[in-house]
Amino acid sequence: MDRLWNPWRFQYVSKEKRPEGCIFCDLPRENNDEENLIVHRARFNYIILNRYPYTTGHLMVVPFVHTDSLQGIDGATSQELFELVRAADDKLRQVYRPKGMNLGMNLGEAAGAGIAEHIHMHVLPRWIGDANFLTVVGETRILPEELSETYRKLKAVF
Ligand SMILES: [Zn+2]
Repeated sequence: MDRLWNPWRFQYVSKEKRPEGCIFCDLPRENNDEENLIVHRARFNYIILNRYPYTTGHLMVVPFVHTDSLQGIDGATSQELFELVRAADDKLRQVYRPKGMNLGMNLGEAAGAGIAEHIHMHVLPRWIGDANFLTVVGETRILPEELSETYRKLKAVF
């Protein structure tokens, strides 16, 4: 069980870089989707690559509305969010042919949320033994594919 939830503990960006504001609110407003790794925008939510992925293809579905709880989004947003989770699952299977998927949300700092003030759903493809090819050097993770390459592949199918 630990293994399932631990991947989502590390922070999306360092606190030094963005001392104020909310990254999940700021990034879509910047209108620089390629650099910010936003692969898809829907009406109430968007899909973004995790800049510090646990596995290649690690995505997050994020509502545009700033809220720290599930009660903070309305029915339409909630419904679309899950539709996007399904789409992400489908696209990731098309592109990466994983052997499994992890879906999950950490609500609150105590639950391990890196950015607790704005809810987001993780969707990440898994392969048997995938933890073996991850090497942790300080806070840098060495992954088998560059993020720009992952972005290009997923952007093409969304
Ligand atoms: Zn926010």
